[in-house]
Amino acid sequence: MSGSILVFAEQRGGNFNRTAFEALAAGQQLGRALNAAVVAVVLGHKIEGLATQLAEYELGRVIQVDHELLAEYTPDAYAQAMEQVVRAVAPQHVVLPHTYLVRDFAPKLAARFGRDLISDCIRANVNGGSPVFTRRIFLGKMDADVVADGEPPIFVTFQAGAYRADQATKGTAKCEVEKMNVEVVEPRTKPEPAFQEVKQAVDLSKAEVIVAVGRGIKSQENLALAQKLAEALGGEIAASRPICDAGWLPIDRQIGSSGQTVAPKLYVALGISGAIQHLVGMKNSGTIVAVNKDPEAPIFDIADYGIVADLFEVVPTLIEEVKKIKGE
Ligand code: FAD
Repeated sequence: MSGSILVFAEQRGGNFNRTAFEALAAGQQLGRALNAAVVAVVLGHKIEGLATQLAEYELGRVIQVDHELLAEYTPDAYAQAMEQVVRAVAPQHVVLPHTYLVRDFAPKLAARFGRDLISDCIRANVNGGSPVFTRRIFLGKMDADVVADGEPPIFVTFQAGAYRADQATKGTAKCEVEKMNVEVVEPRTKPEPAFQEVKQAVDLSKAEVIVAVGRGIKSQENLALAQKLAEALGGEIAASRPICDAGWLPIDRQIGSSGQTVAPKLYVALGISGAIQHLVGMKNSGTIVAVNKDPEAPIFDIADYGIVADLFEVVPTLIEEVKKIKGE
């Protein structure tokens, strides 16, 4: 093994969110390509259970940093604690999920090392032994490949959905959990109660099948047709942004850069052109089926199965066939 990769496993309120495991998957893939050991770190207070959960993954070790001043997130306390962890581990790369919390403290952390932060990456490839990180630029119209030329550690954040959480691999045995003591001085800010997002009626990130509609559906009344297909497939209905902007479906059903990021086993796109802001929210789906009248629609570039046709002709047939298979 040469060098190591430190993965920041973000937790809020004693729970990991999906992006923690996406960062693990990113770190593990990079670790394999660079033949580097992967170490995960979790910060907080009374987080033994979280460290044990992480120890099930294929990792060199897990570092548990428990301090009462880390019970609630503050940028000061997190930057102080992470600085000490990074100095102790001396990794080549520090991999973090590109969440609001990370965006808040990671620049401060990178600055303490005088290093760059390569943020919001969508993938990493290893070319001749050195990693190349890809970031979307100009509102997703171009990709930039970034190579860090400074000394390690290199700080990298990955966009939600860039890696699949279920691709984080578990180990054959639990790995070691190291309890690391850190010194944290009283942060300058006092956290207010965490912002409570409006409870989503549906968590599309857990759906195994999603039928998504775009502007090709033409009117709100026609949503019933897509809903029928979703029901036949045992899935959830979702949409591109214009459908939610028009109020035809609630905003929590929007997929894309300003909506939810999903990776169901099956994603059926009906009358969706495949703008980059939509694609970033669903490109990691297992199988993508697209129905679009326009053979040049960009959605076909990432579809596993493409049907160039009028959705109003295709969808009723699909519903019939699915019902037949189910014996209904
Ligand atoms: P269109 O691009 O209009 O495509 C409609 C498609 O339907 C066409 O390809 C057409 O060929 C096809 N069609 C028409 N009639 C039929 C028919 N009868 N049968 C079959 N096919 C048919 N978009 C998102 O989806 N999610 C986001 O989170 C998001 N965030 C954004 C953030 C920013 C900052 C910006 C600038 C934009 C964002 N967008 C987002 C908007 C995005 O750029 C596109 O405008 C949007 O995704 C287009 O939606 P659409 O594919 O439904 O519509």
